[in-house]
Amino acid sequence: MATARILEFLRREKPEGPCLVVDLKVIEENYEAFARTMPGTRIFYAVKANPAPEILALLAGLGSCFDTASVPEIEMALAAGATPDRISFGNTIKKERDIARAHALGVKLYAVDSHEEVEKVARAAPGAQVFCRILTDGAGAEWPLSRKFGCEPAMAESVLLHAHALGLVAYGVSFHVGSQQTRLEAWDVALGQAKAIFNTMAGHGIILQMVNLGGGFPTKYLKQVPGTGAYANAIHEALTKHFGNALPETIIEPGRGMVGNAGVVKAEVVLISRKHANDNTRWVYLDIGKFGGLAETMDEAIRYPITTARDDDAREPCVIAGPTCDSADVLYEKTPYPLPVTLSVGDEVLIEAAGAYTTTYASVAFNGFPPLKAYVI
Ligand SMILES: *Cc1c(COP(=O)(O)O)cnc(C)c1O
Repeated sequence: MATARILEFLRREKPEGPCLVVDLKVIEENYEAFARTMPGTRIFYAVKANPAPEILALLAGLGSCFDTASVPEIEMALAAGATPDRISFGNTIKKERDIARAHALGVKLYAVDSHEEVEKVARAAPGAQVFCRILTDGAGAEWPLSRKFGCEPAMAESVLLHAHALGLVAYGVSFHVGSQQTRLEAWDVALGQAKAIFNTMAGHGIILQMVNLGGGFPTKYLKQVPGTGAYANAIHEALTKHFGNALPETIIEPGRGMVGNAGVVKAEVVLISRKHANDNTRWVYLDIGKFGGLAETMDEAIRYPITTARDDDAREPCVIAGPTCDSADVLYEKTPYPLPVTLSVGDEVLIEAAGAYTTTYASVAFNGFPPLKAYVI
């Protein structure tokens, strides 16, 4: 959200062009809330949400671990001060030579969801710890991660057995309940499946250690969302329900929930127009759109709070679009967005809760527009 520090920064610096401003104090509060409410759980920040070096350095200093998906992300986490034992290679889709590079850098923890990937890890990172990701349906998530990642629980058992047979440490089970998950119960089903896998593996003499509870912790956009404490309680209850007092080691991988509410995009109204003489709906074109960093407006999935200096005036629904020459570059049209009737070309608008999944999604120079600038304060 637009904190006093962010507003003061924008007033003082008047940065030209669309930009993201991130307040590190908010990220520190988010980290402390995860650490306080889930005291026994290690926190692996999902680097892809916002890999700004200042954010990684802050989190490394606070004691965070890092969930990475590529060698450059591993290198960024190391450069920020994390030791390799605090880094997981959490992507289930890795080149064998990238696994070898991660192994050489000292990374010991790898995600898999197939026999083929286990074989790559066994060859390129002998002796490593692997956890198998299981499928979830993503129900209740505003940005579901669908069927691309994970395998059915019965296959996970066979994947972990294969890992063990190849000399890897079959370490645990992971899942991701879908990003921006607002159903507190979402973890319950997956934890029941995880426990069943622990039991089967124990029957084979293999004691799994860890459940990776993934991300999914939300940011408040327009609708209210439960607080971190409510998630911690629901997860703790589900863990106790399924594992009793033999609780496994647990980790979480928050991305959006760590940085989403810490950033605000400053943008500018470029054009306000209509499509015919008695058109009731204004088209408001901003200097940022889907290709400038707001990719999560795809299918209008994420609906950002948008504020202006004219918010005391009456509002009417508008179509909001970006500045590029691609007709896909429309942010909100199926559900038009209420903006002040007095809104004018040149006005500044603030797109709130935009700290996650914005700079990393910005295109390099589509139509010559530079990637989204970021200021971390
Ligand atoms: C993207 C991702 C996350 C972060 O998800 P959020 O919903 O943003 O918290 C965590 N784990 C994995 C494996 C991911 O790919």
